[in-house]
Amino acid sequence: MDAPVLDYLRKYNFKKVQLVNDSATGLRGVIAIHSTALGPATGGLRMWTYENEQAAILDALRLARGMTYKYAAAGLDLGGGKAVIIGDPAKDKSEALLRAMGRFIDQLGGEYITGEDVGTTLDDMEVIFSETDHVVTLPVHCGGAGDISPATALGTIEAMRACAERVWGSPDLSGRSVALQGLGVVGSKALGLLAEAGAKVVVTDIDPAKVQWAKDTYGVEAVAPDAIYACDVDIFAPYALGGIINDDTLAQFKVKVVAGAANNMLAEERHGDELERRGIVYAVDYVANSGGTIYDTDRLRKGGFQPERAMAKVREIYARTHEVFAIAERDGIPCYQAADRLAEARIAALTAVKLLG
Ligand code: NAD
Repeated sequence: MDAPVLDYLRKYNFKKVQLVNDSATGLRGVIAIHSTALGPATGGLRMWTYENEQAAILDALRLARGMTYKYAAAGLDLGGGKAVIIGDPAKDKSEALLRAMGRFIDQLGGEYITGEDVGTTLDDMEVIFSETDHVVTLPVHCGGAGDISPATALGTIEAMRACAERVWGSPDLSGRSVALQGLGVVGSKALGLLAEAGAKVVVTDIDPAKVQWAKDTYGVEAVAPDAIYACDVDIFAPYALGGIINDDTLAQFKVKVVAGAANNMLAEERHGDELERRGIVYAVDYVANSGGTIYDTDRLRKGGFQPERAMAKVREIYARTHEVFAIAERDGIPCYQAADRLAEARIAALTAVKLLG
């Protein structure tokens, strides 16, 4: 029998997937719960126009599994989940539809906790919060952490410092040259931190206004979007697109380090092997960019949201990146595999403790 979804569930040991439908509001969606081994399955709610329902389900599953690894590697007591609404956020989103989704999430009794993702906003989360307590990403006035991008940016710079230490023997970024791609909410803050650290940054963005802002604010040099990969610099820092480590960009790189915030940086796993072969040190994307989620989910920890505690945990990304290097060296594997091993080892260790009582 051809059963791609069920095969995927079996292959990656999924706990549960729920399809949701609410005919009155037009809601059609998926809630995927990969693992609750470390805690409630947590992950954002995506709204997207999928080609077909199978694509929507598989996307939810893939993303949920990614969250299991992200939280486990970040040292958080959360499992992996993700929800998807099929539809165009610009046309199909309504208060009634979001509230219907909120009621489905509520029925899971806390097994799944939702948050913002592509196609949903903090305002949407506030709407869902009126139906269920199981929402983590919330505006400050609802008890949430608000803007998480400064924490994401800080985490990526901590990861970059760990990479610098591995390559040059010192985490100090002063005098290091960095090619930064993408001056959005995270990239612009990372640029500020790099300038503060004394790095020499060359930037690019497809939005000329953002490039002008960077030049005016930090006096940095800028290049055309296509020219960023071939810059003769120490570090490539991607803050824009996924799949940015690919055959084309690898052929142009002169850098010794890749570290930034972009999700799913490797176009294919073999590109992670290729980075290794070329001696380029890679700060694994989901470890490096976990600062925002660490900050965001602090409100689920004992005592509720404590910004200083949250930022201290974000800074641990420096040590965690070194842990990934150590596993890679010990096991003779590339960093992207070592990060998965770090996450799996933590789940196995804590699950064993739980089983033993
Ligand atoms: P954003 O949309 O605010 O910024 C992206 C920027 O990249 C924009 O300024 C855009 O103009 C630019 N860009 C797009 N295509 C480009 C190209 N070809 N060349 C140069 N610039 C280009 O997004 P963001 O929230 O800053 O996130 C950046 C990356 O980090 C994304 O991959 C995102 O998934 C990831 N990430 C973000 C967070 C967060 O806290 N926001 C957390 C984890 C991961």
